[in-house]
Order: sequence, then C-alpha cells, then structure tokens
Amino acid sequence: MQNELETLRNYISASNYIVFFGGAGVSTESGIPDFRSVDGLYSQKYKYPPERIVSRSFFMSNTADYYDFHKARLLHIDAKPNAAHIKLAELEKMGKLKAVITQNIDGLHQKAGSVKVLELHGSVYRNFCMECGLNYEVKVISESDGIPYCSCGGVIKPDVVLFEEQLNDDILNESLMHIQKADMLIIGGTSLGVYPAAGLLNYYRGNKLVLINKSETPWDERADLVINNSIGEVLNAAVI
Ligand code: ZN
Repeated sequence: MQNELETLRNYISASNYIVFFGGAGVSTESGIPDFRSVDGLYSQKYKYPPERIVSRSFFMSNTADYYDFHKARLLHIDAKPNAAHIKLAELEKMGKLKAVITQNIDGLHQKAGSVKVLELHGSVYRNFCMECGLNYEVKVISESDGIPYCSCGGVIKPDVVLFEEQLNDDILNESLMHIQKADMLIIGGTSLGVYPAAGLLNYYRGNKLVLINKSETPWDERADLVINNSIGEVLNAAVI
C-alpha cells in the first residue's frame, strides 16, 4: 500500500478543492452496522425485513414497529468518530477539503468537527412533527416510550430519507455543485451501488478520482487511484 499512499499524499498536497463522498463503510469502522452489506442489518432477524421497515409506507402504517427498529438499530448516539471522520475534519480546517457528502445518517462527521456536511439521506439528529413542523432533538426520540409525539399531538418523524421518499433537492444540487468544482474527489466506504451515488460521480471533471473501499467497485477502472483497504487506516496514514 506504500506506493498508493504516496500517490494519495501527492494528490492531497496538489489539491485545493477536495470533496469526499462517503458510504456506510465510513461508519462501520465506528461500530455502526452497514445497512446493505450481507453482514449488516439486512441479514439480521427481525419481525419484518429491515428494507421494508425503513420505507415511507411502513412508517405510516406501522409507526410503533418502525420506532422499535429505529431506536434499536438506527440510533447510535454513543458512537464515536473514527480516524476517517477525524482526518476529513482536519483536511477541512486546513482549507483543502470543501465538502463531505455522505449517505450516512449518524452525524459522526459533525461530531468529528466537519462543518460542511451534505447528508443525502438525512440525519437521525433532526426530527420534526408531521403536523406542525416543530423540530425535536434526538433525545426526545431516544427517551420516548413507543411512538414519540409532539406537544400538538402529531407524530414526530426522523428527518431521514426512507425508501419511497425523495432526496432533498437542495442538498442534491449543492452536492453536484461541489463535485463539479472539485479538483480531487475521494470516494470512501461505498461500493457505489446505492442511488444516487454513481449518478453524482458523473459530474466530476478532475483527474484525481480516488476510490478507497475494502472491496472492489464497478468504478475502479475509471478511478485514477484505487486503494482496497480500510478508509480510516488509509486516511490516518495519508493525512499528517
Ligand atoms: Zn406538532
């Protein structure tokens, strides 16, 4: 891996508009199970298949069951940022990195100190009343018994993008803008199989496309640098 690390270091030092695009693999190194991997949530036994639970229609029709799952499996309030989150925050402070675009909903980039974080799939840290729109902290969800209700009586919904729901247009557009401007794009912890990841990457026009993922991805041939290793270990070694 030494040669790859050296190339990565050279890329970083030559870049002034780095954008990071991250998937579930960034969070698994903080002990948060991957939604879609075979070892992840989807292979676990539950009353309903997890991919059905995290859908809009299930939330609306089986709200109590949704929240059982949400509190047990999607809330990881005590999880800590790992080396990947920390190094990305450092790159931002250095003025090198301009945006983190993430598919994760766990808020770990912000915990590590990142400021510009575009959360494509929302965040468990934001919650709102479906009736009056009032915002609620995550504590209200985690400490609630069963379904969390607003003081107005409405059901509180986490601001996460469930299946059957649209991505937020503003976040999507801002992500595209950053990817178009980027002189270096680092993609980490994703096999790029999840919408809209692959589509977004088509907007990158630079010549420093870096893929860091434990396994191969369909994009490896298009990348300028591929490192099949832990994202935390790689960034820890490359960013000093
Ligand atoms: Zn309300």
